[in-house]
Amino acid sequence: QAKQAGKNTVRMFHANMSEVLKTKVNLENQLHDAIVNDRMEVHFQPRFNPQGQICAVEALARMRNEEGDLIPPVEFIPIAEETGLIVPMGEQVLRKACQWMSLVNQQLSHAVGLSVNVSGIQLLDGKLCNTVATVLEETGLSPALLELELTETVLMQNHLAVQDDLMRLHALGVNLSIDDFGTGYSSLAMLHKMPVQTIKLDRSFVSELPNKPDSVIISRTVLAMARALGLGVVAEGVETEDQRDFLVESGVAELQGFGLAKPMNAQDARQFVLAQELPATALQWVTKPSA
Ligand code: C2E
Ligand code: MG
Ligand code: MG
Ligand code: MG
Repeated sequence: QAKQAGKNTVRMFHANMSEVLKTKVNLENQLHDAIVNDRMEVHFQPRFNPQGQICAVEALARMRNEEGDLIPPVEFIPIAEETGLIVPMGEQVLRKACQWMSLVNQQLSHAVGLSVNVSGIQLLDGKLCNTVATVLEETGLSPALLELELTETVLMQNHLAVQDDLMRLHALGVNLSIDDFGTGYSSLAMLHKMPVQTIKLDRSFVSELPNKPDSVIISRTVLAMARALGLGVVAEGVETEDQRDFLVESGVAELQGFGLAKPMNAQDARQFVLAQELPATALQWVTKPSA
C-alpha cells in the first residue's frame, strides 16, 4: 500500500513538473513573441512630491499575450531574467517609455521625470549604457529626466564591470536609484561608493506605517541615513493618508502608491499627467478619508 502510494506520488510529481515546465516554456514563447512583435506594453505610475504634484512617473512592463490578456511582471520577469530575454525586453520597455515621456513633456510647462526598472542581468550584459545613450538620442528625452531603478543585489555584488557601467550612466547625466530599499543587503560603504541619488523605501515598511514600531524605526533610520548621505527618499506603496502624513512629516522627497495613483496605461497616464497642467485640478486622494 505504502509502495503504491509512493509510486503514485512519484508519478504525480512528474506530472506536475511537466505541467510547470509547459507553463514556463509557454510563457517564454509568448514573451519572445511579444518582444519580437513589439507587443510589450508599458504602464505608468506617478510619483508625487509632498505638495501633491507629479514629479516623475515609473514605467512598469506589461506583457500582452496572443489572446490579448495583460500578464503582470511577477509572472514573466523571472522567466525573462532566466532566459536572457530581459535584455531585449528591457530595451523595448525603455524605448517605449522614453518615447511616451518625451511626447508628454512637449505638452507640459514643467518637465516630469521618468524612472525605468533595470534588472541586474541587463547591467551584467554590459551594453546597457550604450542602449540608454542610443534611446535617449532617438527619443530626445533629456538624460536628466531619466532615472534607472536598480536593485540592491546587483549593486552589492561588487562587479567592477557593473560599477564601471554605473559610472558611465552617471556620466551620461542619468539618475540612479535603489529600488525596494531595505529588503536586500546594502552596506553604507557601498551606498556611498555608488553614483546613486535616490533610495526607494520598500513597500513592506511603508505598509506598516505609522503604527508598527519596527517599521517606524526603520523608515526614520533610512531617511536619516539618506539625508546624511545627500540622497533623496521615495516611499513606495503609499496606500493611506496616515502613511502619507507620517512620511511627509518625516521628510520624504517623493511618494508613490495606490493611495495616490495606480499604474495606468499609456493613454490614461498621459491624461492624468496633463490634467496637472490645469490650475483648477487639485489632486484627489483615491481612498476615502477615514472619518
Ligand atoms: P517595483 O519596481 O518595486 O514596482 C512597484 C510595484 O508595486 C508595481 O507592481 C506596482 O503596481 C506596485 N504598487 C505600486 N503602488 C502600490 C501600492 O500602493 N500597493 C501595492 N500593493 N502595490 C503597489 P508591478 O507593476 O506588478 O511590478 C512588479 C515588479 O516587477 C516591479 O516592482 C519591478 O521589480 C518589476 N518590473 C516591472 N516592470 C519592469 C521592467 O520593465 N523591468 C524590470 N527589470 N523589472 C520590472
Ligand atoms: Mg521600481
Ligand atoms: Mg519598487
Ligand atoms: Mg517593490
